[in-house]
Amino acid sequence: MKLAVYPGSFDPVTNGHLDIIERAAQLFDHLIVAVSVNGGKKPLFTLDERVAMLNEVLQPFSNVSVDSFQGLTTTYTIEKQSQAIIRGLRAISDFENEFRMALTNKKLEPTVETLFMMSQPQWSFLSSSVVKEVGYFGGSVSDFVPKSVEEKLIKKIASRQPLA
Ligand code: ADP
Repeated sequence: MKLAVYPGSFDPVTNGHLDIIERAAQLFDHLIVAVSVNGGKKPLFTLDERVAMLNEVLQPFSNVSVDSFQGLTTTYTIEKQSQAIIRGLRAISDFENEFRMALTNKKLEPTVETLFMMSQPQWSFLSSSVVKEVGYFGGSVSDFVPKSVEEKLIKKIASRQPLA
């Protein structure tokens, strides 16, 4: 059985992530979308909220599951008996960081392969940060995230202090 892990913050999941998930799910028997707890970033959504949003939007995919993990992606990947880490590449700006991470992971765990999937052009500008920024300033994010995520983003932003 060919298994892959797609790790990330997913704060929140966007249409760009969904496109990668849909395409990766066709290449593997099973795909685990794994929300990472660490990363030094201060997320807008809690871990439970991010996992719940993913579970909701990924319901139609029978060979995709959602999980969370703390610590090294390679350790988690081995624990899950998976052979591959999936990462999405949007633009050249993603490349350096992703390259560094993939080489570090290869050094840590030579049996695990990192596979990069190019973003489709229509999502190559899209990130969770862009979605949050547009949302904060009252713009519509309906073209960027699924409806259920948009609703949760609007509620979350309304419940927070305005930006200074
Ligand atoms: P991280 O904090 O680990 O980068 P993200 O949730 O931002 O977590 O992204 C997870 C993965 O999805 C990364 O490989 C990132 O490059 C990729 N990704 C994010 N947005 C897009 C997009 N619009 N198109 C393709 N890949 C994307």
